[in-house]
Amino acid sequence: MQTNLADFIRDTPVGNEADEILRKCVHCGFCTATCPTYQLLGDELDSPRGRIYLIKQVLEGKRPTRKTQLHLDRCLTCRACETTCPSGVRYGRLADIGREIVEQQVERSLVDAAARRGLGWVLPHPSRFSPLLKLGQSVRPLMPGAIRQKIPRRQRARAWPAARHSRRMLVLDGCVQPAIAPDINASAAAVLDRLGISLVNVPAQVCCGAVSYHLSNPEAALDFMRRNIDAWWPHVEGGAEAIVITATGCAVMVKEYGELLADDSIYAEKAARISAMTRDLAQVIAAEDASPLRNGDDTRVAFHSPCTLQHGQKLAGVVEGILKGAGFVLTPVPDAHLCCGSAGTYSILQQDLSTRLLKNKVTALEAGNPQVIATANIGCLAHLQTGASLPVVHWIQLLADRDTGSAP
Ligand code: SF4
Ligand code: SF4
Repeated sequence: MQTNLADFIRDTPVGNEADEILRKCVHCGFCTATCPTYQLLGDELDSPRGRIYLIKQVLEGKRPTRKTQLHLDRCLTCRACETTCPSGVRYGRLADIGREIVEQQVERSLVDAAARRGLGWVLPHPSRFSPLLKLGQSVRPLMPGAIRQKIPRRQRARAWPAARHSRRMLVLDGCVQPAIAPDINASAAAVLDRLGISLVNVPAQVCCGAVSYHLSNPEAALDFMRRNIDAWWPHVEGGAEAIVITATGCAVMVKEYGELLADDSIYAEKAARISAMTRDLAQVIAAEDASPLRNGDDTRVAFHSPCTLQHGQKLAGVVEGILKGAGFVLTPVPDAHLCCGSAGTYSILQQDLSTRLLKNKVTALEAGNPQVIATANIGCLAHLQTGASLPVVHWIQLLADRDTGSAP
């Protein structure tokens, strides 16, 4: 695609990056076939190709409007289009660049701006989110059905095994996950303990930065990233093998620290090392001899592969392979490439589209008569729980719940 960037961005690092991405797009439209918002709305401007065109116009100097912003807001950043694109267009990165510029040029309505500020103030901070969730849980039984369904039930975490192995890995605690589903990281610790690895939770770590980043607040996001690097660094130097992430949305973000902090003279090198040693939990288990996790349990599981697992990290099929290898029966899930509608804060900011995607996803997941639904990201898990008639768990909990009698 020919480009002619405007003076405000031409020959800047971000302008060059955007230009390179734009030039790769040949406008073939293959990506529209797998775009969830195009499927629902049928509007070219709600497709990847249309959004690329809108961003190109902005970078070429056309003033964006609220309509431009709306089409970009409706994008889930699911990156299904990247998986489909034969030309390797990095749509997700282009969307981040475009959104940031549009955010600076288009004023949001008071309600929209307040909602986004509120989410950015609460969600990344466990000290704010956790008491609010507890309050909601305490009044949950009194709430009408529709609201009650949106408040996750209280969950207890299993015991975290003592750090007894010489092999050690760090785990990201995350922002909302410890409050909503504290058993996920405890399950990961229990399973890895059986495989001879101790999982260490470093207290000073914070949100990975994804919430702020996707609310177009890159400065706050970079601050979270630097704080995590400071928290992990002494343990990295002390011999921790990897940083393990149990939420696929956070894994994508931490794997991008190196790229996003590349121009930071103090943190660039450390950020690159942190990203290089970051592993999704599925990568960690897949790389080990997982035979201690097998038993004769043939529970039927429908697995929802989060966009940040299959499109963001390109790890399609890895969790499914682990579950099958452990003896679970995976039920077929039609249109498994499509987003469930969670997408960070999307389920709150774009409720109509999110609810439609949720309904379609739950129908697809329950089509094969599973006994349980499993997924790999806290956002998807909490979102699916609001619409599914079956229990929804993190896949690592299925493995942790098994009595294999095989502690090493
Ligand atoms: S993003 Fe890729 S698939 Fe979509 S129009 Fe451009 S080149 Fe084609
Ligand atoms: S990221 Fe997802 S919603 Fe956004 S344009 Fe690509 S396929 Fe469509």
